[in-house]
Amino acid sequence: MDAFQNLAELFRTFPGIGPRQAERFVYHLITSPVELRTRLIETLKKLNEETAQCRSCLRYFPQNHNAELCAICANPNRDASLLLVVARDRDITVIEKSGSYDGYYFVLGGTIPILEKNPDDTVRVPALVKRAQNSPQLKEIIIAMNQTTEGENTTDHLLRTLKGLPAVESGTMHLSTLGRGIASGQEIEYSDGATLRSALKGRAQQ
Ligand SMILES: [Zn+2]
Repeated sequence: MDAFQNLAELFRTFPGIGPRQAERFVYHLITSPVELRTRLIETLKKLNEETAQCRSCLRYFPQNHNAELCAICANPNRDASLLLVVARDRDITVIEKSGSYDGYYFVLGGTIPILEKNPDDTVRVPALVKRAQNSPQLKEIIIAMNQTTEGENTTDHLLRTLKGLPAVESGTMHLSTLGRGIASGQEIEYSDGATLRSALKGRAQQ
């Protein structure tokens, strides 16, 4: 495969990009001044060097001081009794923007497809269980998945797994899901601040 095809294949792995659009990107790059390609190479290199995975919430974050925790997890003033589980890194950004949550987060890294035989290999369920077990101050785990079939499937699996935790069985830790407000089929990423605020406020204990 030549560099043109290789790059087009890479662009195709981006969300929402089909083969024609991927080729258009490559044509744009090869017909642009060489400075654009050089800048892109340098920027990607820098992005690689400055991106780290947070040891606690597992999201990726920009860092340049070898920090192990992202800004949210490193903030001691947040509410350690709350842990909100989201599917993807970008869900954190919209929830933070809504200004309605001040606890900590955990990023599952995706959702569980229907009929998936090994859900714990698909997303970070074992890491979530570990996080819950090693957080003595934790009182509530809020599961915030998209209101899609796959999101609901993921919520069901998480509830089943987490209900087995001794702290949940003894009632010292609660599980909840986002309340009404987020419509069926709606994704957290595209929800507005008011919707998220009311969904968090009206969360339902499971
Ligand atoms: Zn973090």
